[in-house]
Amino acid sequence: GADISARNVDNLSQNFPLCMQNLHRLLRRDAHLKHVGRLQYTLFLKGIGLNLEECLVFWRASFNKITDDTFNKEYRYYVRHAYGDVGGDSIRRGGGYSPYSCQKILTEHPPGPGEAHGCPYRHFNVENLTALLQAVGITDQGVLRGVKEDKESQKFHMACNRVFEYVHKKEIKRVKDEGIMTSAQLETIVHPNEYFKRSYLLKN
Ligand code: SF4
Repeated sequence: GADISARNVDNLSQNFPLCMQNLHRLLRRDAHLKHVGRLQYTLFLKGIGLNLEECLVFWRASFNKITDDTFNKEYRYYVRHAYGDVGGDSIRRGGGYSPYSCQKILTEHPPGPGEAHGCPYRHFNVENLTALLQAVGITDQGVLRGVKEDKESQKFHMACNRVFEYVHKKEIKRVKDEGIMTSAQLETIVHPNEYFKRSYLLKN
C-alpha cells in the first residue's frame, strides 16, 4: 500500500499537480508558507490520506527555522482545525474542511505578493509558469507552447490536463491498451486530489 506519511511527502510530491508542487517547493525553499497556502496544502495532504498526527509532524519538520514553542502557539491550532480536531461543533462533527477543488482554487482568494497558493496556470504570468514547469521537468517545447495557448484562452484545466497527459504518456497508453482504464476514466481533472490519485495509480 501507499506510504502516506510525513517523511514520504517529498517523494509523493512527484505525483502532485502543479499547484501543490509549487507550494511544496516554496515550503522547502523558505521553511514557511503563508496562511492560505498552508490551508490549501494542508487540506490537500489530508485528502491524499495524511492523518492529523502525520500532518502535524510534517509541518513541524518543514517549519524548521522556528522553535517548538512558536510552532505550537502559532501554527498547530490551524492544522488541527483543518482536520476538525478543534473548533466549533459543526467543524468538529464534519471532520474539518474539505480539500479545495480546482474551481475554488481558480476563483477564490487570488494570491497576493509573497503568497504561494492558487493555481499556477491561472495566477502566474507566462514566464513564471514556464520557468516552474521547466523546474519540475517539463521541457518539451510542444507542451510548453500548448500550455501557453491554454492559458491565453483561459482554459486552465486544459493546461493542467495537458501536463498530466504528457507526464503520464507511457502509463496512459498502457492502461488504455490493456483495457484497464477507459478514456472516460481519464477525462479532465477537476480536483487536485483526483490528479494525485490518478497519477499515483498510474505510476505505481
Ligand atoms: Fe491545481 Fe487544478 Fe490548477 Fe491543476 S488546474 S494546478 S489541479 S488548481
